Amino acid sequence: MRKKFICGNWKMNKTAKEAEEFARNLLEEDLGDKDILIAPTFTSLYPLKELFKAKVKLSAQNLAAYDDGAYTGEVSARIVKEFCDYVIIGHSERRNIFLEDDEIIRKKIKKALENNLKIILCLGEDKETRKSGGAYDFVKNQILTDLKDFEFNKDNLTLAYEPIWAIGSGEVCNREDAQKMCAFIRETLGSLFGDLKDEIRILYGGSVKGENAKDLLECPDIDGALVGGASLKADEFLKIINYKEK
Ligand code: PEP
Repeated sequence: MRKKFICGNWKMNKTAKEAEEFARNLLEEDLGDKDILIAPTFTSLYPLKELFKAKVKLSAQNLAAYDDGAYTGEVSARIVKEFCDYVIIGHSERRNIFLEDDEIIRKKIKKALENNLKIILCLGEDKETRKSGGAYDFVKNQILTDLKDFEFNKDNLTLAYEPIWAIGSGEVCNREDAQKMCAFIRETLGSLFGDLKDEIRILYGGSVKGENAKDLLECPDIDGALVGGASLKADEFLKIINYKEK
């Protein structure tokens, strides 16, 4: 049984003070034993760690492809690990704006694993690829290229299917297509990792909000959400966390 995993990716938003305010608002609610994660900017990891303790998990949004050393502006997996257990790798904004290719992504995965960081790997096609019918081949290729020859367990790998056209656009992928792709991702994982595929969590990301969370999260192969914009306000994020009660 895969436990639902609700993750917020804050991207380049919130000062440490604003992050603390969010955390206090979130913690006013009874979060029970739900699996909730926030990926703030690096500068907010420490204050959030102090406030969230074990109640909310923390993730970095990125990490260096190198060990500590002369890489101005970078943050290594060893340094990240001091504050959090997770790292997002391969977000489409990193792939497209910062031109991270599969080789860099594999180096980052290697560094994360060497430092016992759990990986949330983002995958997803752009609009043209979806329209031309190439989405499945595209995503399959990302999985096989990025993950082959690595060893994972059920806890240190989460995948996030994030169709690029749905990110920040308000255009959510419909539940049938999202479920179909997440089931396909699971099947593809099976070709690399056998039965482990049934234990690895697969998230959907792309314009998830309080109003559409239930629809998506009830799908059998969607084990959670990676939420951008709607994770910035505690009350909206809580609606997603509490999607069952809606
Ligand atoms: C994201 O950036 O991972 C994301 C899913 O953003 P949004 O929820 O704003 O579409």
